[in-house]
Amino acid sequence: MPADSRKSAPARRIEDLPGIGPGLAAKFRTLGVNDEHNLLFHLPLRYEDRTRLTPISRLRPSLTALVEGRVCHQETRQGGRRSLLVVIEDDTGQVVLRFFNFYPSQQRQFAIGNRLRCFGEVRFGPEGFEMAHPQCQNLRAGHEPIHRPDPGADLEGLINGLHPAVRRLALEELIAHHLALARLNRARARQHAQALCDEAGLVGRLLRAFPFEPTAAQKRVMTEIGADLSGTRPMRRLLQGDVGSGKTLVAAAAAAQAMGAGAQVAIVAPTEILAEQHRVNFSAWFKPLGIEPVWLAGKVTGKKREQTLGELADGAALAIGTHALFQEAVQFRNLCLVIVDEQHRFGVDQRLALAAKGSRDRQVPHQLVMTATPIPRTLAMTAYAGLEISVIDELPPGRKPVTTALIDGERRGQVIERIRIALGEGRQAYWVCPLIEESDALEAEAAETTAAELERQLPGLRVGLIHGRMKSTDKTAVMDAFKQGHIRLLVATTVIEVGVDVSNASLMMIENAERLGLSQLHQLRGRVGRGSEKAACVLLYKSPVGQLARERLKVMRETSDGFRIAERDLELRGPGELLGRRQTGMLRFRIADLGRDAGLIDRVAPLATALDRDQADTLIRRWIGDAEQFADA
Ligand code: ADP
Ligand code: MG
Repeated sequence: MPADSRKSAPARRIEDLPGIGPGLAAKFRTLGVNDEHNLLFHLPLRYEDRTRLTPISRLRPSLTALVEGRVCHQETRQGGRRSLLVVIEDDTGQVVLRFFNFYPSQQRQFAIGNRLRCFGEVRFGPEGFEMAHPQCQNLRAGHEPIHRPDPGADLEGLINGLHPAVRRLALEELIAHHLALARLNRARARQHAQALCDEAGLVGRLLRAFPFEPTAAQKRVMTEIGADLSGTRPMRRLLQGDVGSGKTLVAAAAAAQAMGAGAQVAIVAPTEILAEQHRVNFSAWFKPLGIEPVWLAGKVTGKKREQTLGELADGAALAIGTHALFQEAVQFRNLCLVIVDEQHRFGVDQRLALAAKGSRDRQVPHQLVMTATPIPRTLAMTAYAGLEISVIDELPPGRKPVTTALIDGERRGQVIERIRIALGEGRQAYWVCPLIEESDALEAEAAETTAAELERQLPGLRVGLIHGRMKSTDKTAVMDAFKQGHIRLLVATTVIEVGVDVSNASLMMIENAERLGLSQLHQLRGRVGRGSEKAACVLLYKSPVGQLARERLKVMRETSDGFRIAERDLELRGPGELLGRRQTGMLRFRIADLGRDAGLIDRVAPLATALDRDQADTLIRRWIGDAEQFADA
């Protein structure tokens, strides 16, 4: 770690730094860079590149890459300019390293048999691909200075020399998270929540009215959650359950317990379509029990909004909505349970904002976070650190596996023909046009074009269109028409990814499937196969498809187990992508990569305990800074 680490001056704000005006400062802030320290450590991309090893055979001229290999040849060339030529090889090939100014010590560093890690730009040379003056690190030599850390040594001494720079930073970051979490756990031990005892017996009444028997897995997690809620220790529980596993009923039971105790409950979903669906379900379940949900979304405005805010402040038992519920003007009287659905779509900060609404003194609401995006256990422990995990590992009975086919987009015509036949038999289908560019507008446009085209090709069949840029009343109208079967084919963007539940829909076409993550494909596919009809999913890809994309698509054909898919996704893409941008609800690391650095995790706790308070403060400030509070979510 840098020498200033032990007692650093307070960080200057980003706008106080020389050369940074308000405009640039604002841009930095959107990246979470608020001060000098954040700025210094805002370097994930660069580090990513330098830590990803490239197989030597994959080197191409002008690529800047990190390679690792064994020295297999070394010679000094006299010629016009004296140069040192070193050849390294890995399992895939060889590359030349060329040095014009060199020292005898370098000749020793590059002795035959030594393992080197080299970072530099590749070019064509007389001997094939070469790197001129790469930065080199001698791996073997690096591992000969190894010593048992002395418990009294400072962090610098403990970490120094054990790892190449990036690994050391990663370790430092993991330690910082560990320390922050330990503090939060201590702070949490001082918080309490209202114990929610279902005096009114709403849970029993809800379940008795439910048309199905809960699955064993649903019952188990209901018991876990019920126990948490009846205690004064604030619940922070993640409910993981595959698409269609029935998380909504579990949420409803939790809500019933809280309302049965006279408390307020808020349920938040990331899209209006999903929130609306919860409103419909919860209304149907709770109206007979005398509870009418209060609805709040961004589009609720004017008088209606005033009225809604008034009801919430007065203590209306159940609020359902989108992130509009996080807004400042929203006040609750006695909010004791916050339920967040499909949490990967939210930022932790948003969830905290809602939890904060229920906080008084040291009393905080219980939190239940639900997700269908399964992540492998090993990652979950760290990524969802601080949340306890319940898993619904069983689907309701009667689900039919969805047959999945991979079809070249060129054969679209044949696919449309098959749809015509299926729709003629009374079936319903989705046609999904996923994100092509990072733009809502373009996505919506693509969906519009596709809908128009399909309408032309399927005369006499009603084709509907739904995308995120439509007015909410229009969205609702389209969803209703689809539910009632008036619309046979629904062209949609990925807005339908989460939660949409129309059991008669048994066919799904996904365009540009090769561009989507496996978890996302899994979510989408989970929209079909809910009814009695045998369901099918067609993944349309645009050839040529690379090897990796092909592997990934094959996974979709081979399994429908969300966990298995997530594991394969992890293997194929690495955790950076898997836990990437979309899943902002989890702890984010700047340098550390839970897959790559899994081997470091065992070291974290012992090193962290060897630090004194000042050192711990410095690390937390450097790596987590303002984000510290977020880990409390
Ligand atoms: P998800 O976990 O994806 O949110 P949902 O809660 O939307 O899943 O449930 C998916 C479907 O399964 C819904 O139509 C719901 O009514 C149904 N369902 C839930 N629990 C059961 C059960 N125990 N038996 C039969 N169907 C169930
Ligand atoms: Mg759901």
